[in-house]
Amino acid sequence: ATFEQLKLNKQLLQALQALQYTSPTPIQEQAIPLLLQHLDVAGQAETGSGKTAAFGLPLLQSINPALQQVQALVVVPTRELAVQVRQELKLYARFIPNLKISAFYGGHSFRVEEDSLAQPPQVLVGTPGRLTDHLSRRTLDLSKATKVVLDEADKLLEMGFEEELDELLRALPRQRQTILFSATMEEDVKELIANSLQDPKFIHA
Ligand code: AMP
Repeated sequence: ATFEQLKLNKQLLQALQALQYTSPTPIQEQAIPLLLQHLDVAGQAETGSGKTAAFGLPLLQSINPALQQVQALVVVPTRELAVQVRQELKLYARFIPNLKISAFYGGHSFRVEEDSLAQPPQVLVGTPGRLTDHLSRRTLDLSKATKVVLDEADKLLEMGFEEELDELLRALPRQRQTILFSATMEEDVKELIANSLQDPKFIHA
């Protein structure tokens, strides 16, 4: 298949062309059509499979740049991944005007993050502890975040972020699209899927 056949919009196709991505990876081919239909998806995929674009492209296609509110939340286990995912999403979003993508993570300046919320990003990437800190301080409004990605879910659980994930999910609208990616599908990941996704479609790389 081609990215055109997956019904991505012109701006995204233009970015993919600039990046010289000639064809979708297997996980992208499976994930993109399901995600564009707003279905919940649980994907088993490792780093290197192209999973970031698999969730990132449909997510960017669904954003309304005219609304300055957090519309999509991407939860990742580490600050390195937060920075990396933000950078990658920015490459895909380069031809979409007025789209803001921020990354919040432990060790980053709280002040800088709070200032960035004065004009909220449409896409927010962050680590669980820092995101729940913002919720406690009431600096972050997730009530319009109708898309959430739990990236590297096995690692999120392994690092003990279960409570933070619960808190974040409770702050999101009930009517939302929930997407989960994990390198492994152990019992604890399956439990998280059962508790936070609705009629999920399962895919693997
Ligand atoms: P990820 O699995 O998301 O960490 O992606 C692995 C790497 O593959 C990233 O550096 C992407 O920029 C790159 N990539 C993702 N999708 C494609 C594609 N369809 N064609 C070529 N490279 C890709």
